[in-house]
Amino acid sequence: MSKKTIVKNGRIVTAVDDYHADLLIEDGTIAMIARSIDVDADRVIDAKGRLVLPGGIDPHTHMELPFGGTSASDDFETGTHAAAHGGTTTIIDFAVQSKGQTLQEAVDVWHKKADGKTSIDYGFHLICTDIPDSRLPEMRSMIDQGVSSFKLFMAYPGVFLVDDATIYKAMLMAGENGGLICMHAENGVVIDAIVKRALTEGKTAPKYHALTRPTKAEAEGVHRAIALAEIANTAVYIVHLSCNDSLEEVTRARDMGVPAYAETCPQYLFLDYSVYEQPGFEGAKYVMTPPIREKWNQEKLWRGLQFNDLQVVSTDHCPFCFKEQKELGLNDFSKIPNGGPGVEHRMSLVYNGGVAQGRISLNRFVEITSTNAARIFGLFPKKGTIAVGSDADLVIFDPEEEMTISAATHHMRVDYSCYEGMRVKGVTKTVLSRGDVVIDEGEYVGRKGHGSFLKRGLAFSPR
Ligand SMILES: [Zn+2]
Repeated sequence: MSKKTIVKNGRIVTAVDDYHADLLIEDGTIAMIARSIDVDADRVIDAKGRLVLPGGIDPHTHMELPFGGTSASDDFETGTHAAAHGGTTTIIDFAVQSKGQTLQEAVDVWHKKADGKTSIDYGFHLICTDIPDSRLPEMRSMIDQGVSSFKLFMAYPGVFLVDDATIYKAMLMAGENGGLICMHAENGVVIDAIVKRALTEGKTAPKYHALTRPTKAEAEGVHRAIALAEIANTAVYIVHLSCNDSLEEVTRARDMGVPAYAETCPQYLFLDYSVYEQPGFEGAKYVMTPPIREKWNQEKLWRGLQFNDLQVVSTDHCPFCFKEQKELGLNDFSKIPNGGPGVEHRMSLVYNGGVAQGRISLNRFVEITSTNAARIFGLFPKKGTIAVGSDADLVIFDPEEEMTISAATHHMRVDYSCYEGMRVKGVTKTVLSRGDVVIDEGEYVGRKGHGSFLKRGLAFSPR
């Protein structure tokens, strides 16, 4: 006997549709969509007055990432539990190749971290730190295994940084095999020089993390990443784009028909530089890379989302506790682990700032929180939409309810929130992952190990 669930009376919204209908889910996928469905089912969920959305896809998380002598505080269990609470049903996490490791070894380590732990589905990108010519062909085998995107760093010399020739060769290899290069675009060599100089001048407070990473250093990286992709005749995806200087580079390239894609993150849409000017060590909570920028950049980024120069909102979820972890940099901002929590609140934040405040349409909201990530990273139409045959990853969302974001009530394993006290409209009520209820009216009823690894298809360019 197959398992049947019906979602009744909802307003179904995808990147292109908006209508009232019932949904029949059979064995984890959507079997039927009709004005009214009355069949015997194991469960009937009433979605009256609510939106029924494709599950959120967060293509940028770092569960259990080792960084700066410590590790991100969420693992795949706690991190996916928190993601589900916020209406995200798929994450794509970054596996990391250490120097000397083969690409296979790196991915195997990440499989071990995630296997049997997650309550929602997950995929991997692979951060490559060591790819001499002899190792480049391994990328092909990664793509065959469903790890069809790779992240390279222009920042963090000595740790993650790879040189321009390596980036170019990796782009060629990815492009020829249906893979995609994701770029951390920042001129890390110059930033390192600025950081060293600040430290010798006794500038050690958290705010100097931001003041030593100028927007031009990011924009230069974005420009160079796009130029290298043009030379290699392939697409490029810029991760965590934070400021207008960088956005202008992407916009200019796209206007010329270059397949350049970019994501931004809620922290760049909702926070501004003043977070670093708080008393004491508070600013350490916002030490992430790129840093939070001056406020005027926010409306520019929204404009980028409105006009499709930015295609995706991800979180770059990489939490470190304020106590003990962020405190590693009490006397030296350069030793503060880089990253912040975010995976839980992306959907509500973007709904509130985007749809409730009139900046974007409901369809565009779905597109930038789910559909585009699925298209770009080879998951569409299994994920990212509501259609017959697609996975029944659904979010039943109350567009009128409000909530206050707080570390006291969130589910991420971290002792602070970047949005403490912020009131948002739009709350995830019930979440289904492949037809199974993971969140039921705000209560977690999921199961560790329900989530499975997504062998992604070839990276696909949306437009
Ligand atoms: Zn990241």
